[in-house]
Amino acid sequence: MSTITLDAPPPIETQVGGVDYFSSTAERERQVALQPDERTLPLGPIKVVHAFWLAGMSCDGCSIAAVGATSPSVEDLIAGTIPGVPRVVLHHCVLSVESGEEFIRNYEMAEKDELGAPYVVIYEGSIADERIAAATGGYFSAMGVEKKADGTSRPIPSSEWLKRLAPGAAAVIAIGTCATWGGVPAATGNPTGSMSVMDFLGKDYRSSYGLPVINVPGCSPIGDNFTETVACTLLFLQGHGPLPEFDELGRPQWLFNETVHQHCVRAGYYEEGTFAKRYGEKECLVEIGCWGPVVQCNITSRGAINHMGGCMNTGGICIGCTMPGFPDRFSPFYEKPPGANISSTGSKVLGTFMRPLRRISQAYLNKETRWVRQGHVPSGWGHVEKPGPIMKLIHKMYVKYQFLGSRKTWKEE
Ligand code: SF4
Ligand code: SF4
Repeated sequence: MSTITLDAPPPIETQVGGVDYFSSTAERERQVALQPDERTLPLGPIKVVHAFWLAGMSCDGCSIAAVGATSPSVEDLIAGTIPGVPRVVLHHCVLSVESGEEFIRNYEMAEKDELGAPYVVIYEGSIADERIAAATGGYFSAMGVEKKADGTSRPIPSSEWLKRLAPGAAAVIAIGTCATWGGVPAATGNPTGSMSVMDFLGKDYRSSYGLPVINVPGCSPIGDNFTETVACTLLFLQGHGPLPEFDELGRPQWLFNETVHQHCVRAGYYEEGTFAKRYGEKECLVEIGCWGPVVQCNITSRGAINHMGGCMNTGGICIGCTMPGFPDRFSPFYEKPPGANISSTGSKVLGTFMRPLRRISQAYLNKETRWVRQGHVPSGWGHVEKPGPIMKLIHKMYVKYQFLGSRKTWKEE
């Protein structure tokens, strides 16, 4: 019996290089960036981009959506495997392995322009008016602390981080409806004075690369919408691509220019005027509260995660979560939208004529020409009824009309 002996692996330091666990990621990155790496292909002027994630009045759903993205994935961006797109160094208060001072040090370095690489700011959640909380000695959302002149410490509000980092950022990307339009925390009657990133930074804000705030809405957003927007923006910053097309509200135009309804799996039912009365039914959901015909969102074609799921695909109505008017202008939820009264009545009237006509055409198309010639359908699965004289006449007229102006290749018996 022979024995296989394995060599002991080399020490981890010789495999990955020495790691100073007590410095921040940004400090380590800067040291790495100083050493030219001949193994990598020339990328363009930008090798590395830092991404500073800030969270305001948020439920963390946007973070969850982003890490679920698949094309491209967050891992693709972090590993730098997308051709032409610089490697992303992500600083995220939940996903980063650092914590405390080492984590905050990254943000401080960005503020002081010490990174030696460009950075983008990603903001999740809406921005509360911290003056309201401060009046009673509190705060709404904050990250890290800093020493005050009197020796005590104070939490640094997320909004203050945004104010500090936005001027030097290559791009500011608002992710999710709270960050893009204020969302639920900014709904009428909220006590926090919450607002969107765009409202907070103002109309005249431009990043260091000249970009206004980029908005990727959704509650939660489709993760792929976000990562794709990041990748396209980085290609632009790199000089490898044009500025992606954004609409007048800063949404990626190619993702938000069509309505949910235009790609809905139930749109055929709407067109034929058949509507669900209860949840769980397969027809169009407009009469039980779907706002899809007027809402700009691509979830019906892209799916929620990995091209799967999505509201109507899984039985849910559209409550307009990607829209600036959400939630106020879409409430009360689960009630028929006012405009649907006109459009669904129109579809019902048209559908009354359309449906029987389509069933007639369907019966005609469900026959081999040979079966018609032979006068029967040789199926062992069930009895297929022969068309009656009226149906035969309709089919004859149908064929005549179908071949009007064309050479007919076969003859209806
Ligand atoms: S379920 Fe909504 S989006 Fe789908 S067809 Fe009906 S109205 Fe349109
Ligand atoms: S379909 Fe409507 S509710 Fe669903 S994600 Fe899109 S906008 Fe939001």
